[in-house]
Amino acid sequence: MSEPLIGAIEAGGTKFVLALARQDGTILRRERVETRTAAETLPEVAAFFRAAAAIHGPIGGFGVGSFGPLDIDPTSPTYGTITTTPKPGWSGARFAEALGEFAVPLMVDTDVNAAALGECLAGAGRGCRTLAYTTVGTGIGTGVVQAGRPLAGFSHYESGHLRVPRDPACDSFAGSCPYHGDCLEGLACGPAIKARFGRGLDEMVDPAAAVELIAGYLADLAMTLILLHAPDRLAFGGGVMKAPGMLEALRRITEMRLAGYVVHPRLDPGLASYIVGPMLGDDAGITGAVELGRQAIAQAASAP
Ligand code: ZN
Repeated sequence: MSEPLIGAIEAGGTKFVLALARQDGTILRRERVETRTAAETLPEVAAFFRAAAAIHGPIGGFGVGSFGPLDIDPTSPTYGTITTTPKPGWSGARFAEALGEFAVPLMVDTDVNAAALGECLAGAGRGCRTLAYTTVGTGIGTGVVQAGRPLAGFSHYESGHLRVPRDPACDSFAGSCPYHGDCLEGLACGPAIKARFGRGLDEMVDPAAAVELIAGYLADLAMTLILLHAPDRLAFGGGVMKAPGMLEALRRITEMRLAGYVVHPRLDPGLASYIVGPMLGDDAGITGAVELGRQAIAQAASAP
């Protein structure tokens, strides 16, 4: 029982999920905190961990999966800082500072990378070396986890802003992305669907045609992920994916677009075991955050 505990944070736009966990992933204590400004929310986060550690034992490291944009470059002096978010009171918020009193290592990644990590280890990606997990909701993002680590370059990936072909004869909607107009997110995220159709897929009497259109854009992303990363599996989650028939349409159109070019036993006919839904539901993010905390502790222990 002397093993240091993990503090895990899933920082979302509307709520924070906090957990104190053992290194085997067992959650000892868990709480939900409403997201207000950083100045209001972060002291409440620190107070939870202070109180939980007093009961269960000292915390050895923190893992954070957060909304962004976020500096996730471990060599950067502003590592773990929320950068240019339009969310009032969060630009420049630093997790390292908020948790500074604990003086333990910290690993921060994006919310989608944390969820991808959670799904890879304990959900839809079990047994996969590479899993690409995409969430299609308020925004669109993909985390690509390989050998237990989310892949990244100088920053996290931004698959939501890939450009996908739009035929104005079939879809006259110019897109809602303030930067690119009709990028993938501008065409297929929840708010884009509402802006185009005046309602969400879940509010339509017969959403079949809309589902087909949106699945087509998402199939372009699925194909891109296959071509770039050759993942063992693709998982697609988020509110938009809950529309009836969406996952099935995505499989069918992706297979059509691939046109038999990529042949591998992983790509089963119909892609039913290749393109799947998430398995952890709302727990993916916090599961991944616990793993980030575990990695923070392991990394500090192995540092020279
Ligand atoms: Zn965009």
